[in-house]
This record gives sequence, C-alpha cells and structure tokens, in this order.
Amino acid sequence: MSKPRGLRIAGNWKMNQGVAETRAFFESLSKIQLPSGKSFAPGVTSSLYVPALSLSAAKDACAKAPAPWNGIAIGVQNAHWEKSGAYTGEISGPMLLEAGVKTVLIGHSERRQFFGETSETAFKRTVSLLQQGFEVMLCVGETRAQREAGQTESCLREQLAPVTFGGSTGPLMGFWNGRLLIAYEPVWAIGTGLTATPSQANDAHAFIRKLLKDQVGPDAAAKTPILYGGSVTPKNVAELMAQPEIDGALVGGASLKPDSFSQLF
Ligand code: PEP
Repeated sequence: MSKPRGLRIAGNWKMNQGVAETRAFFESLSKIQLPSGKSFAPGVTSSLYVPALSLSAAKDACAKAPAPWNGIAIGVQNAHWEKSGAYTGEISGPMLLEAGVKTVLIGHSERRQFFGETSETAFKRTVSLLQQGFEVMLCVGETRAQREAGQTESCLREQLAPVTFGGSTGPLMGFWNGRLLIAYEPVWAIGTGLTATPSQANDAHAFIRKLLKDQVGPDAAAKTPILYGGSVTPKNVAELMAQPEIDGALVGGASLKPDSFSQLF
C-alpha cells in the first residue's frame, strides 16, 4: 500500500517494561521475520516510545537486533521545554540528545488526564523540541463525553490552536516538514478495546488536515503525518491503515508483546 507520507507504526509502552523486560522483548523480536523479509514494506518506518529508564537498554538491544528491527527509532514519552533547571522529575532535550534519542511523544492523553498537561504546555514542549532538532509526535483527541456532545471538532481545534497559531509565519514556521507528526487518539478508544471505526478515524484525520491547510497552509497539511491511536491491534490495523487520511498507528497494548507488535507491520 503506497502512502504519500509513508506509514509509521509506532508503539507506546507507557509505564511498562523495565530493563529486563526490554531486553527480553528485543530478544524475542529478533527471532521474528516479517513476510517482507529483512526490511519493512516500502515507505514503512517505526518508532517505540519507552520508559526513560529502559531507554539505554532498548537502544542497545535494538541496535543489536537484525534488520528490520534495528531500524526502529527508540524514543521517550515526554520531555521538558527548558534545557535544564529546577524541574524535578523532568527530562530535557539535551539529555535526550546525549542519549541518542531523536523522537519524542508529547501531549499523550494520559499526561493530559493525570499530570496536568495542557494544550499550552504540550505546545511549549513541541516547539522547544523541534527547535532542538527532534521529531515530535503530538497527541490529540476527544473524550467520550466530548464525542457524545458533538464536540470532537471543537476539541481538536482547541488542542491544535497553539500549534497552528500564527499560521505559516507562526512559531512553528520552518518545522512543517514532516518532523512534526500528529497522533489522533480518541481518549475513549485508548486501552479500552473500543476502536474508532475506520471512517470515524478517517473523518477526524481529514478534519485535522483541513485545519492545518486552512490555518497553516497546503504545504504543512500535505507534509504532516497524522497517525491513529486507540486499541489498534493486528486484527484491525490493515483496515485502519487503508484509510486515505491515516498515515500510521500509535499503539499501546499491542506494542508490548513481540508477537503482536510484529504483526502490526
Ligand atoms: C496509546 O497508548 O497511545 C494507545 C493508543 O493505547 P492502546 O493501543 O492500548 O489503546
């Protein structure tokens, strides 16, 4: 399946898999061969967002794994916008660069729900990390109550407002080149087993792309990959990825086991 922006299969391990489990994951993954052989299908890339303490183990084990698994970009699930300072419990861009990280997940709904992340703080992280050279996968998505109240689009507009602010001359000018990815993750579908139907997901993606087109410009809209996340599994991945507006998947539960992770490709 050929996609204009390629296809990204990304895993979010959340607060799962310490060092030993991380090593075991890559050991088992190394024994699995894809039907496409030693490479991902054309245009397919992959990233795994692991707990910070498992980062070093994941990078080492991934580098030693056979192709295509050694091509997975290992990233983390959050980072601060400041480069250093009195921010207990946080991790900075320079620390991540030193550790060889190139991609960071930002604004996941669990960070918004449990740790006070807002659209503004997610934006501050996003712009700072893009300026430092990272790829950023920014997560957005409505709650069940918002969807039921017909507020899906207004929620997405609010969450993306800081990012699109200023349009093509805004703070993200120069970064609309594919290094900013958006993950549409309806909160009601995350970890619940409920999946947006392919057409629900495609409609939300089309709305986001139109928002980017209207507020930033056609080039930004054309270059920004939009991934779907929410109970993606080996069973439903093909149908979701076949949707024209879907450029990849961000996967939680099914990325934790080598078997199910490998079956997403
Ligand atoms: C996620 O963690 O971003 C996610 C989509 O989780 P799950 O696939 O388990 O719903």
